[in-house]
Amino acid sequence: MKPSKSPKVIIVIGPPGSGKGTQSKLLCRHFGLEYVGSGDILRARQKVGDFTGQKLIKVMGKGELIPSFVIVKILGDKLEKLKNKSKNKGFVLDGWTRIIYEAILADEALGWYGWNKNVKVILLKISRRESYNRLTKRRQCKKCGRLIPWLGEFKKLKKCDKCGGKLVTRRDDKIESIKMRLEEFKNQTVPSINYYKKQKRLIKINGEQSIEDVFKDILKALKQ
Ligand SMILES: [Zn+2]
Repeated sequence: MKPSKSPKVIIVIGPPGSGKGTQSKLLCRHFGLEYVGSGDILRARQKVGDFTGQKLIKVMGKGELIPSFVIVKILGDKLEKLKNKSKNKGFVLDGWTRIIYEAILADEALGWYGWNKNVKVILLKISRRESYNRLTKRRQCKKCGRLIPWLGEFKKLKKCDKCGGKLVTRRDDKIESIKMRLEEFKNQTVPSINYYKKQKRLIKINGEQSIEDVFKDILKALKQ
């Protein structure tokens, strides 16, 4: 069989604090893919001064879950833009399939654009306790905004390793909102993970390792 010419699509999922954003960006750099993260795109969408833009500011400000209809609409708009690009080696989807409907509709959207031939779904597995620790203990540089994850060597840092700035616990990492995010993961995202699992599409990676080792495991799994 000839190697597939279909663009590479990687869907990265995992509990809060599992390092989805970090690993997604590493994958993009490694394979020359475009990063399609829901956080970045939704924040950009807030700036459009229409009804949805303004409502997103309110809903996201309260930390509420955005309805799947809005998520899928915005993802669809992004995919349409990618389709019109002359060169598209593929992309990494981060944060678009937190609910089972979104996983189903993301599959439909990928089929619509003819990108369903080369899709990989990666689950970064970490325990609930690890997730909680990483979210409550991660810090941010006051000066440059760099996020310092709660893992490996980073735990020992006293000051920002890039600019020497002071490190503080992030304000949005409040205990109540973290508990809410973990509950949401259990109730909403686990069914979406099971959807991929039932179809035998799930690639499970141990997320409780250093960033480098997680990435190595992902690359190894993608080759198989
Ligand atoms: Zn800094």
